[in-house]
Amino acid sequence: MFTVDVLVQGYPGRTLYHGGLGWSTIALVRGGPYRLLVDVGSFNVRPYLLQRLQEHGVAPAEVTHVLLTHAHWDHAVNWTLFPEAEIVIGERELTWAVAEPPGGWHVPELYVRELARHPRLRTVRDGETVVPGVTAYDVPGHTPGHLCYVAEGTEHDWVFTGDAAKNRAELVSHDVDMTLDRGASQTSLATMWRLWTRRPGNVVVPGHDVPMRLDGTEPVYVDVRRAAVFAWLGTRLDDRTRFALTTE
Ligand SMILES: [Zn+2]
Repeated sequence: MFTVDVLVQGYPGRTLYHGGLGWSTIALVRGGPYRLLVDVGSFNVRPYLLQRLQEHGVAPAEVTHVLLTHAHWDHAVNWTLFPEAEIVIGERELTWAVAEPPGGWHVPELYVRELARHPRLRTVRDGETVVPGVTAYDVPGHTPGHLCYVAEGTEHDWVFTGDAAKNRAELVSHDVDMTLDRGASQTSLATMWRLWTRRPGNVVVPGHDVPMRLDGTEPVYVDVRRAAVFAWLGTRLDDRTRFALTTE
């Protein structure tokens, strides 16, 4: 039976003038001898991720598994920080990612090639048990080999959807914003809804949003969104303007 702590909240936004934002969810899943991370983010989140891990009493070398939902840069660069972890990714995902030509902006080419020859790489398939109580499911579309992971908890399960369902708007509208295969994405949304509703109280943890449970048929957030930036827009270092990126 597993407990889950969201170390870094995903954010359902995009920049208008600065390319990809890539604020993705990183979750710590603990149970028995296992300390798993679901997705690990990219360079920008490294100091904060390590701080959050420390706050939860976990050293990088104590992480036993890194579960990657897919190979995009904003989810899949920092597997290199966990020297003892088995790195788990979909077999089809890695095959696809390694073959992607350089020049695209989604796949960190060198990181996926290094991962493909990593001694603790483990590729998994649909329905495979990652560790007892954690199962991987195929949810293709956003990328060809995208996985969703389900961890069994005492009261309910946790469903990690990655970017197969990036946010509440995608879950509710049954449609997605960025996909390589829209039909596959819609089938995958149906799969994730089945996983969400198959046990009362199940919590979905999306790739770019705050965790949600269902109140009847309506998704409600189970965490308070925290997102903000500050900027030096004046002429003094101590003159900083804070911008909240929430409506709550
Ligand atoms: Zn993605």
